Amino acid sequence: MFYPRNDVSANSSIYISEYLQLLDGVIIKKFLELDKCCLLADRYILAMIFTYFTRAQLTPHEFTPYNFFVALHLAHDIEEDDEELKRASVIFALHGETACNCVDNDFYQSFLRSRNILLERMKHRALVSLGCCLKVIEMYPHHSAWLRFRAEVHAGANRGYMPKSIHGASEVNDICWNCNKWKTVLNN
Ligand SMILES: [Zn+2]
Repeated sequence: MFYPRNDVSANSSIYISEYLQLLDGVIIKKFLELDKCCLLADRYILAMIFTYFTRAQLTPHEFTPYNFFVALHLAHDIEEDDEELKRASVIFALHGETACNCVDNDFYQSFLRSRNILLERMKHRALVSLGCCLKVIEMYPHHSAWLRFRAEVHAGANRGYMPKSIHGASEVNDICWNCNKWKTVLNN
């Protein structure tokens, strides 16, 4: 059964609570806790995944950890440029943890097929604007998922839509308090 929905509409608000319950579930919660620097899933990636679920018209019973990791992999395909991060999403989908680093090839192929099916159900519309992400966040703005900001020191990749730094100076320093990573970020 499909629900007639388009992107982030009024109907989406019915599903945001389902999605946030998924994030609060044991598997995703553990995953988010391990991703301390929000490299795999910051607030924008989490909002993208909800948008993917909406575009693909997933039913509530399809709001599963497996589909979350499939959508996460796709979001990283679109927004990031790090094969290791994508691999981590597969490992977590398979094992529910990162202690085991091995990925069975059959599982991996099946995972990639799932990703392609999701993309087809989204009619190949995988780009999500910043405005759309913010609309998702505003639906339930006080949830802890939206506090997952990635430090600028970890920023990069293909996030062309992200707002420019407000510092204005030729150079800014930034630190990630989670891993104490510090570097000078050139601010063009
Ligand atoms: Zn960090």
